[in-house]
Amino acid sequence: MSTSKQTDAAYQKCINPDCGAEFDCGQSLFKCPACGELLDAVYNWDKIEVPDKLTDFAKRWATRNNRLDFSGVWRFRELLNFCEDKYKVTIGEGQTILQQNDGVAEYVDVKPGRLYLQYEGLNPSGSFKDNGMTAAFSHAMMVGAKSCACASTGNTSASMTLYAHNCGLKSTVFIGSGRIAFGKLSQAMDYGAQTIQILGDFDDCMRQVQDVCLQLGLYLLNSLNPFRLEGQKAIMYRIIEQLRWEVPDWIIVPGGNLGNSSAFGKAFYELKQLGLIEQVPRMAIINATGAKTLTDLVNNKKLLWNNGSVEQKIIDDYYADLTARNFSPHTCASAIEISRPVNLKKCLRTIALCNGIVRAVTDEEICDAKAIIGKYGLGCEPASAATIAGLKHLRAEGVIAADERIACVLTGHLLKDPNVTVNYHKEKQGQFSNPPIEAPNKLDEIIKLIK
Ligand SMILES: [Zn+2]
Repeated sequence: MSTSKQTDAAYQKCINPDCGAEFDCGQSLFKCPACGELLDAVYNWDKIEVPDKLTDFAKRWATRNNRLDFSGVWRFRELLNFCEDKYKVTIGEGQTILQQNDGVAEYVDVKPGRLYLQYEGLNPSGSFKDNGMTAAFSHAMMVGAKSCACASTGNTSASMTLYAHNCGLKSTVFIGSGRIAFGKLSQAMDYGAQTIQILGDFDDCMRQVQDVCLQLGLYLLNSLNPFRLEGQKAIMYRIIEQLRWEVPDWIIVPGGNLGNSSAFGKAFYELKQLGLIEQVPRMAIINATGAKTLTDLVNNKKLLWNNGSVEQKIIDDYYADLTARNFSPHTCASAIEISRPVNLKKCLRTIALCNGIVRAVTDEEICDAKAIIGKYGLGCEPASAATIAGLKHLRAEGVIAADERIACVLTGHLLKDPNVTVNYHKEKQGQFSNPPIEAPNKLDEIIKLIK
């Protein structure tokens, strides 16, 4: 299916170098029809008027009454130029901040002025997913989609449903039983999604949704969708924008389905290709110990990108073992409770590009880090705090120096998962628990308790 609605500056390409099949952007594929591998959006840069220098993007602050210039994704639109402006969807995503935070820096033994927190919880649906959805829904509008679906640990469903009702699309969400944080489930229901709760975990949902989308012709909005990752690149553009167009030494990101790390690597690869940056940052991807597929594959099984010739047998054997053990991932950081990450190979590509490293942190470390981020910053959901817990490891190991400039991506809002926060404090689960103090209904007794 070819349409005239896309730009001629972009196409889709299979990431498998032995295949390399190309498709136009008017198709909704999500996997290479020839070999089953992931697809990329690729640009013919000579057909796009990309600004000569990154500072040129800042001029759009003066014209932010234009909806595309207001968007924290589309104000960088030359860098994800796959459809005409008239199809571009925006609900004001990407108005997020990069906060220098010395309180959290002290906790992880980083020098004052060197640690930054990128608060993606400030997006309209409360997570980074809106960056990707604005791009993927623009593609959905371009191809004339009428109905969409996703599998979700929570944030994807909230974001997808919000965009779907803004675009007039029907939406269906697949969630695992008991595996979704209340804040996120409440959003999907309130925004009007049809929610299907499957007796299984996220990985089961992910398998089912792909078949359902194929059979019913629904538009798939998981991060298999290459256009979602195009939008998520903007998180990196905004970080360097807020660092006065300088690249930090390190980006630290939670590792779940690995869409973010994949998108971030692609963002830096393209900026370097365009001559807009001189060097790429290093990247640290942080798993939870209860869902550490990437850590096992990269650190223990030595799985490499290898210019795209990834040793598939290592992955197949690992997954066969998970199946044989009937393994299901478990972590309080539900957003990264994933053991078969769909963007694994694109993430390996990022690791190769950014000299990346991978670590896993315990739920206890995540919850303590989360309490520190809440105490000194704007708060975040558990998965986001894996970044700070991971940074603490990397400082202790000496992998990251105390004076390096570090940006941690806090992917979701504190209120996404109120249960973890309430339990941590009320049940005194950690060293930073701050439980309420019970008091009799008597003034003098209450006064004695106020410190
Ligand atoms: Zn292919």
